[in-house]
Amino acid sequence: MSIIIAGGGLVGTTLALAISHATKGKKTVFLIEETEPKKPVPTTYDGRVIALSADTCQKIASFDLWSAIKPSATAITHIHISDRGSLGFISLDSKEYNVSALGHVIELSQVMNNLFSCLQKAPGVYLYCPHKVSEIKRSEQHVCVTLDNGEKIYGELLVAADGWRSEVAKMCGIKRQSVNYKQIAIVSTVSTQVSHNGWAFERFTDQGPLAMLPISSGYSALVWCQSDVGRHKIAQWNDKQFITELQSAFGWRLGRFLHAEKRQIYPLQLQSATHNISHRLVLIGDAAQTLHPVAAQGFNLGMRDIISLVETLQTAWQQGKGAGDYSTLRYYQQSRKRDVRATIKITDELLRLFSNTHKGLTIGRSFGLIMIDQSPLLRYLLAQWTLGWIQWNTLFRDKTHETL
Ligand SMILES: Cc1cc2nc3c(=O)[nH]c(=O)nc-3n(C[C@H](O)[C@H](O)[C@H](O)COP(=O)(O)OP(=O)(O)OC[C@H]3O[C@@H](n4cnc5c(N)ncnc54)[C@H](O)[C@@H]3O)c2cc1C
Repeated sequence: MSIIIAGGGLVGTTLALAISHATKGKKTVFLIEETEPKKPVPTTYDGRVIALSADTCQKIASFDLWSAIKPSATAITHIHISDRGSLGFISLDSKEYNVSALGHVIELSQVMNNLFSCLQKAPGVYLYCPHKVSEIKRSEQHVCVTLDNGEKIYGELLVAADGWRSEVAKMCGIKRQSVNYKQIAIVSTVSTQVSHNGWAFERFTDQGPLAMLPISSGYSALVWCQSDVGRHKIAQWNDKQFITELQSAFGWRLGRFLHAEKRQIYPLQLQSATHNISHRLVLIGDAAQTLHPVAAQGFNLGMRDIISLVETLQTAWQQGKGAGDYSTLRYYQQSRKRDVRATIKITDELLRLFSNTHKGLTIGRSFGLIMIDQSPLLRYLLAQWTLGWIQWNTLFRDKTHETL
């Protein structure tokens, strides 16, 4: 019997390749993706970029996938966190923690192209692309997925990795809770007078957090969160006005901003499925939980879903259990509970803390940033969190559900 994955974004594709690697192709994986990846256009730097923690990079390497990611990855050697209008800031340097990088920034469209090439060679993986899931029937023995061309695929487990709009979750009756932050993220690529030199910046402003992440050729990738009320006004800014507004929000740490590429806008919400498992079904990545990008945790959390699921499946198979057995799914659910809850809570509270413009809180935040920067212990803890080496499921394991 096989595993069916619906959704070949970063999470679904990585999972398919991870299962292929872990089982050496002995387990069949059917991956269904509705959109073919776009061909890369080397002269433009459009599109979403994602900051991966050092832990996520190591996990990717453990599946032999780093060589596919590396050509589109830029090392983050320094992180600078500041609050606009306040004196406090935190500065982290990879050398202080004896690592070559605190994380890497990847350019999503290029990485997806490379991973799709890997899929075509991966033993045991069958790709259905461009195809869409149009019907799902789950019985005691198997799950049957009907594609948009009428073809039927049978498996022992269906994994929904179809992102924040998850049609699969809807088809299977799983509800999603959501918090609308009434914010959008403006994503672009910016050329600056001073090259980034591996520095990633996170700046909290009255409008929302603003990140400048290092990418290839010395450009920086912008993720600028703003209230969605101003969406239409921002859409009307010409390039010159956009650069001026951005410069005023970010400041001069990268010198003068010279040019911004095409802007893309993403609505921002916190969404989480009420259940991440159901009969012969698992939800992972954004299909299970979609986070605000303020703490750059969305894919990093999705990567931990992948690791837990692969480990759970391997243990189940070694014990002669099925991937879709209730005990297997329940074990997976328990293994993810604390990490998911804690990451959602921290992301949500961080956003609320830095969105509040109350004078007392602004002063408190400034003091907090100075205190963290000056305290070796607090800096160390922040660095460990950034590197992805503090994880709630390993810190506080739920003893009652240790075995499968
Ligand atoms: C502005 C922004 C910045 C971010 N920055 C970071 C960051 O720095 N670090 C980080 O860790 N995370 C970040 N994230 C979050 C990260 O991008 C996501 O967590 C991650 O990309 C989710 O991947 P996914 O594969 O689960 O979902 P998606 O990328 O949404 O992929 C879902 C896939 O499923 C396919 N699909 C959908 N429906 C069907 C169907 N019915 N049949 C077949 N296929 C289907 C879609 O075509 C798509 O390819 C950011 C997010 C945003 C919006």
